[in-house]
Amino acid sequence: MADTALMDKLVSLCKRRGFVFQSSEIYGGLGSVWDYGPLGVELKRNVKEHWWRAMVHARDDIEGLDAAILMHPRVWEASGHVSGFTDPLVDCRHCKNRFRADDPRIKGTPGQPDAQCPICGSRGTLTEPRMFNLMFKTFMGPVEEQAAVVYLRPETAQGIYVNYLNVLQSSRQKVPFGIAQIGKAFRNEITPGNFIFRTREFEQMEMQFFVKPGTDGEWFEQWRELRMQWHHSLGLTPSRLQWHEHGPDELAHYARAAYDIQYQFPFGWQEIEGIHNRGDFDLGRHQEFSGKKLEYFDQAGNQRFLPNIVETSAGADRVTLTLLVDGYREEQVDGETRVVLGVHPALAPIKAGVFPLVKKDGMPELATRLYHDLKQRFPCFYDDSGAIGRRYRRMDEAGTPFCLTVDGETTVNQTVTIRHRDSMRQERVGVERVGEVISAEMESDRWQVTSGK
Ligand code: ATP
Repeated sequence: MADTALMDKLVSLCKRRGFVFQSSEIYGGLGSVWDYGPLGVELKRNVKEHWWRAMVHARDDIEGLDAAILMHPRVWEASGHVSGFTDPLVDCRHCKNRFRADDPRIKGTPGQPDAQCPICGSRGTLTEPRMFNLMFKTFMGPVEEQAAVVYLRPETAQGIYVNYLNVLQSSRQKVPFGIAQIGKAFRNEITPGNFIFRTREFEQMEMQFFVKPGTDGEWFEQWRELRMQWHHSLGLTPSRLQWHEHGPDELAHYARAAYDIQYQFPFGWQEIEGIHNRGDFDLGRHQEFSGKKLEYFDQAGNQRFLPNIVETSAGADRVTLTLLVDGYREEQVDGETRVVLGVHPALAPIKAGVFPLVKKDGMPELATRLYHDLKQRFPCFYDDSGAIGRRYRRMDEAGTPFCLTVDGETTVNQTVTIRHRDSMRQERVGVERVGEVISAEMESDRWQVTSGK
């Protein structure tokens, strides 16, 4: 299947089944902003919950945080975003389109007569690159003036840095320790695209780990290993995950080392998470700009120091997209195409479909009872319309791992058929055991999220 064809199919599946809709669609949509529908919100929540469990609940040395999106504007001066969070932008004077100056589709050097616009093909119409800040601005209070400018945060990390002492003191942690946060971030990307891969509003899952200077290299390696394990634990195809090390030209000036975890999307290998050794840059800058001492007193060593930071920064939307891409497959079954979303049971939006084989002979009553019982434990879907094969197919493309059918035998011996999404295998199980069987599948080792501790 051609790569763009796969993305087109995925986008249409997402709309048809209620995973992802274009924002403000009835008004023609808003550029690269997406809404998560009933199935998508469950899938993304499951991603975030797995991350939170592995990073916060399963560990003793990481605390959670939910900092506000709006922050004091000085934060973004200290972080370097006001002066440096920019992309070089070029305009085409002919067709009025805008590009990043490093857009690989541009032929020639922007600003020069030979440069060619990748959209309209005109030559010599591309402007010289100029720097464009990616932060969204708004105003705090009733007056729209420079003094009232605040930014929508372009990353969640700064909320962690400025709260590091609050969290340290209130939780009685000791260095080394970490702070984790999941939240929205906003970037006025010049060339967003590839569905939910690069959007202007997105969610980050970030963890900042504060360590004693000199131990940062060791922690960096440890976090690299743990984060790659986590992506494997989602059930992603291992050969589609790889490391990309930042070379000297990519490395931020303050970073000591940086690696991206990349996934092989239909549009190429792309970053889904960054792991960075940031040294003491962040706390050093906030100490300087705020005038507040941010040093840590290490009682054991009787010394003060500014902790170094190892950051793990993943995108919840990009991880959700990897699950959709990785899970999507088409199979030929009895001369028909079966579309399956093979996400693993713990992440699937709906865990079980419950069907009465026919709408008579007491089957709907039994099926409804089973459905209500199971719904107390996990999301289920009741479906009594259409042939059983069609009901299976609807659940397959929603990623539902189990379908339970109540039939004539159920009324006699209290068993139902469990049909497994991936193998299409069917087995009979006692009604009272169904919930346990499904829970065991969700918690079985092969799906377990590794905590690393
Ligand atoms: P890219 O080079 O792809 O723009 P980045 O290096 O700027 O990404 P970081 O600043 O390291 O990304 O952000 C950490 C994570 O946040 C990324 O790995 C990605 O998963 C997510 N992310 C960043 N920008 C976006 C975006 N525009 N849309 C969706 N997710 C994003």
